[in-house]
Amino acid sequence: MTIRAVLFDFSGTLYRLEKDGPWLADLVDGEDLVGEHEVELVRRLTAPVGPLDGLPDHLQDAWARRDLDPAVHREVHLAMFDRVGLPAHTAEAFYARLVDPGNWRPYPDAVQALRTVRDAGIRSGIISNIPWDIRTALKRDDALELVDDLALSYVEGRIKPDPELFRLACRRLGVAPEEALMIGDSVTADGGAAEVGSRVAFVEPLPTAQRPTALLDALAAHGVR
Ligand SMILES: [Mg+2]
Repeated sequence: MTIRAVLFDFSGTLYRLEKDGPWLADLVDGEDLVGEHEVELVRRLTAPVGPLDGLPDHLQDAWARRDLDPAVHREVHLAMFDRVGLPAHTAEAFYARLVDPGNWRPYPDAVQALRTVRDAGIRSGIISNIPWDIRTALKRDDALELVDDLALSYVEGRIKPDPELFRLACRRLGVAPEEALMIGDSVTADGGAAEVGSRVAFVEPLPTAQRPTALLDALAAHGVR
């Protein structure tokens, strides 16, 4: 079947949480939360789905719901930072960095991929488990105007892999799920699109500098050039 819409995941697919300089080292003095610990902490905090190690049971539910409600997202992160020993003011500053559009970087081919879809006469959407408005980042990079629709978990009240979220995104783009290609980095979250009959292509959530053309390659593999 002909592809009439491409749905992109945001984190790890179009964009990645990346910042110049340290995440924590400038916020704590000589603590053990720098270096490898810092990298590991950021990795765990940006995991798309699943339980979080080290979080008590009563917070696991909040963790599972974090992308549905910005307040819950903030609360559960601060609770976790407290558990790993970050002082409150440091935890606040660190949390602010995670949801700061300035620390989200597009992959080198992200804008070109969106433009390729547009030029091919195909509709495009972003479907994301996220607790903040990614349009700020997209606008900064002149990408927002290339996206036909956004389905953000905290707005829609659903998180991937909920099939209804994929159906909703397709409905708003005016295509059947079978006519859509979902491109994402998470088998669990983005792979859910296959449940509603969409095609799915995966990319690796590598550092942006190490992944120059994966989005364009995925599109080309499905005949979108
Ligand atoms: Mg992702």
